[in-house]
This record gives sequence, C-alpha cells and structure tokens, in this order.
Amino acid sequence: MSQSVSPVLRECHRLRRHLRDLQAEIDLGPRVLKIQQEALADEDAAHKEHHDAIKRWKLKQKDDEGSLKTTETRLLKVQTDLNSATSKKEFDAKNVEIATATARKSEFEDAILTALGEVEERTAAIPAVEKKWADAQATFQRQQVEAAERLARLQADQVESLAGLEATEAKIPPEHRNQYNRIVKGYGPDGLAPVHGRTCMNCKTSLTEQQKTSLLGGAFICCPQCGRALYLQE
Ligand SMILES: [Zn+2]
Repeated sequence: MSQSVSPVLRECHRLRRHLRDLQAEIDLGPRVLKIQQEALADEDAAHKEHHDAIKRWKLKQKDDEGSLKTTETRLLKVQTDLNSATSKKEFDAKNVEIATATARKSEFEDAILTALGEVEERTAAIPAVEKKWADAQATFQRQQVEAAERLARLQADQVESLAGLEATEAKIPPEHRNQYNRIVKGYGPDGLAPVHGRTCMNCKTSLTEQQKTSLLGGAFICCPQCGRALYLQE
C-alpha cells in the first residue's frame, strides 16, 4: 500500500462529525425562532393589556360617575319629599331609601376614586411600558439578523465541509470504498473510530498484535468487535 489510510479516515471522521454538528445547529434554528416569537408575542400582549386596562378603568369611572349622578338626583328628590310624607309608614320608607342611596353614593364615590388612581398610576407607567415594548421589538429584530447571519455561516461551512469530505473520501482505496460506504450508511458519523494504543475507542476492545501491525502498515481495518472502520489516533 502506497499511502496509509489512517489520515484519510481520521479526516473523514472529523468532517462527518462536524457535518452532523452543523446540521444539528441548523435544525435548532426553527425552535429558537419559535421561542423568540413567543417571547415577542408575550411582550405584545402585555403592552396591549396595559392600554386596555386604562381604557377599562376610564370606562368604569364614567359608568360610576353616571350612577353617582343618578343616585344623587334620586337622593335629593327623596330628601325633598320626606317632609311631605303623609304617614309614618311612608316617612320610614323614605328614610330607608335615603339610607340606602347614601350608602350607594359613598360606594360610587370610592369606586370613582379607585378608578382615578388606577388610571393615573397606569398612565404614569406608559413611558416605561412603551420602552419595554420597543426594546422587545428591537431585540427580536436583532435576533433575526443574527439568526440569518448564523444560518448563512453554518450553510457555507456545510458546503465547504461536504466538498472536503467528498475529496477526502476519494482517497479511500477503491477496493474498500463499498465497505466504507456500508459502514457510514449504517452507523453514520460514528462508523469510524480511532485506535489508541491497541484499543478501539468506540467499543474499548483490544486489537490483536497482527491487526495493530496491519493498521500501522496503512491497511483498511475494521474493529472485529464493533465493526467500525479504524484509524490511528494522532
Ligand atoms: Zn470497536
């Protein structure tokens, strides 16, 4: 044999593992994007909810103001009518109504104050909320630019590595090409394994002296235990 097969298989192993890693990173892209999209959607919802809450509190305040006005008008009328009551029963009934209306008036006043406070607090927070939403959008934009750059880099590496693998595999002696192809088809990138000392680093089985000598002589050797194509570890 004119040239040892070890450096060729070592390089094939490195490139095949590298290609597997590249593909794994590329495959991660859509999942990362989904997480980023969900984070953006959460921010969008929080931003929208902040403004919706202000609208709801303002609406509630308006409703309560209307109810307060109605209650005050009614209260005034009952108080005016009180003196014109013609019986004790009527007088007592009007007093009960006055007490009820007074309590309701107080409830509406409290509710209006609460609504005013909520609107004021949320309105004051608008600049911070807007900034948070703008930041989230900017982050998402930046992530998309970075993801596109990253994908382009990975794909370029993939093209280059595939070309390198093809060129390297062309150096495998033709008589072993079919066997090599069967092994990598069956085991993928882990169809190749280094030998350290006399040990197959895939299955930790020791080679015989003769097998090790053949390997040192540059032969194409497969592990008798796990079937991996072997090369000498550097
Ligand atoms: Zn082995």
